[in-house]
Amino acid sequence: MQEEFVIDRRQPRVGVVVPCLDEEAVLPEAIKRLGELLDGLVVAGKLAASSRVYFVDDGSRDSTWELIEQAARRDPRIAGIKLSRNRGHQNALLAGLFTAEGDVLVSIDADLQDDLSAIPRMIDEYGRGCDVVYGVRADRSSDGRFKRVSAETFYGLMRWLGAESVTNHADFRLMSRRAVEALKLFREVNLFLRGIVPLVGFRSAIVRYDRLERFAGSSKYSLARMLAMALDAVTSFSVFPLRLITLLGFVVFSLSTAMAFWTLWARLFTNQAVPGWTSTTLPIYLLGGLQILCLGVIGEYLGKLYQEAKSRPRYIIEKCT
Ligand code: UDP
Ligand code: MG
Repeated sequence: MQEEFVIDRRQPRVGVVVPCLDEEAVLPEAIKRLGELLDGLVVAGKLAASSRVYFVDDGSRDSTWELIEQAARRDPRIAGIKLSRNRGHQNALLAGLFTAEGDVLVSIDADLQDDLSAIPRMIDEYGRGCDVVYGVRADRSSDGRFKRVSAETFYGLMRWLGAESVTNHADFRLMSRRAVEALKLFREVNLFLRGIVPLVGFRSAIVRYDRLERFAGSSKYSLARMLAMALDAVTSFSVFPLRLITLLGFVVFSLSTAMAFWTLWARLFTNQAVPGWTSTTLPIYLLGGLQILCLGVIGEYLGKLYQEAKSRPRYIIEKCT
């Protein structure tokens, strides 16, 4: 007989995890709205009264941590986690997910761009037996043109490279306790959560919502950061670029073999074998470029290996409230 874990999915204790970097402009509103949301759901009997919101301060330089501390003193439902320095959105999220308590953890950005009313729907899906619920943007019209185009290119590229990820899902998601425990088993340092969470498995569902405007403050994702994230995502989920090198090497090898035969033939059987400038210099440039390109891609993976081999901690918590 097969044994099955029976999990009571009624009235879960929820932990909402909110990474914050220099968010003093939105925090008071975020604290208010998330508090109200929890209150409403507790009163409606959907959540355990011990549910909490965990704000993770990712090394902010403004008054973000002071605001979190104040709120935590005032309100028992608010907790704060302060990282020792800025470690980036993904690591801040991890710090929150691995520290927060609860049967269910929901991650959401501080800027209130993700519709809070999707949270009760996520909890409903959990009640129906899902361990991972992805928030998916039904509409990106509130994002700028540049953000939209870059996001579409990114998801298209990921799909083409064969890395599994949920299109238009950022890091607004619900994970059950056992899904979070499973996530802890992924020890890699270059963590791209959107790619890892589908690998964790379990039953999952999607909840659609309209993405709103940022409530206040400005985006912390510059072009350089987005590119870095895309590069991380591609190289940590796909060996396709490596395969591309092999393919390229094969093509170049075939061409140069044909060319070698042709020069030999011209030398032996014709009198047209003029010492050629083109046939000498062209391959030099071509091969030189190709070699550098290949070295670059190999270096990319080597760099990953190097970082993983060091297995540095992904975050360090300075203090909690
Ligand atoms: N964030 C963070 N650390 C960082 C960058 C961003 O904790 O190094 C947080 C930020 O405070 C916000 C969330 O991650 O709550 C998403 O960032 P943002 O809204 O700037 O990104 P966008 O929505 O523009 O992609
Ligand atoms: Mg945002």
